[in-house]
Amino acid sequence: MKLEATEGVFGPTIQGEGMNIGMPVSFVRFYGCDFRCSWCDTPFALGKDKGGTFIEITGEEIVDQLDAIDCPNVVLSGGNPLIQPRKEFELFVELLRDKGYYVQVETQGSVRPVGTVFYNVDCWSLSPKLPSAGKMESENWKAVNWFLENIVDTSATIQLKFVVSNDEDYNYIKQRLSTDIVVKRFLTPIILQPEGLQLETFDFTNYRSSLNHLCDLVNSDTSFWADYKTIRVLPQLHKVIWGVERKR
Ligand code: SF4
Repeated sequence: MKLEATEGVFGPTIQGEGMNIGMPVSFVRFYGCDFRCSWCDTPFALGKDKGGTFIEITGEEIVDQLDAIDCPNVVLSGGNPLIQPRKEFELFVELLRDKGYYVQVETQGSVRPVGTVFYNVDCWSLSPKLPSAGKMESENWKAVNWFLENIVDTSATIQLKFVVSNDEDYNYIKQRLSTDIVVKRFLTPIILQPEGLQLETFDFTNYRSSLNHLCDLVNSDTSFWADYKTIRVLPQLHKVIWGVERKR
């Protein structure tokens, strides 16, 4: 069985989001997702119902492409990379580790990694979904807590990255964090970024104003965030630089 990706390796480019923002990376975007978020900005990676297409590729072929690009950092994204064929994905990540790549995985955190995958990834970037995504966010959070509870058994780092569309989303984050002691205990980086689909119209004024509003919300809640000192408000750097032109 082969892996399914939307295309070959994309890079070198830069990581546009989260605590590795600005890092030179190569992207492998896997095909297929178990969610259908209302504002998904990678519909081509979701499935045939969204008009997506994929290529079949082996882990060795992906690594050959990565070696040719010669960038030490790789981001495995999607879709949700963790719904790939389990054994093939596990062997692929082992190969990346053997080759010395720094491996970051981007997932909403709905599916637990199996076998050695959890231990061979350097950075888990989890994006649990909020009310605006139109998803069963409570179920998603239960799965995310599994990552947070087990990450201490690994040498990996973990971040929570939230795409915030409106004040309801923001308040929901606070509500979930208030009832989730795991996040507090491990000082997990918490990234808030405005939902950026409006940039499809090149409306940077709107994006700046969304960032501004998010900063105002956080700054008006400093007593709440005092318990989460790893809170960060960040833009999607790739959208700021390239807008609709896809560079990640
Ligand atoms: S989880 Fe991510 S890839 Fe899947 S639908 Fe939501 S935004 Fe799109």
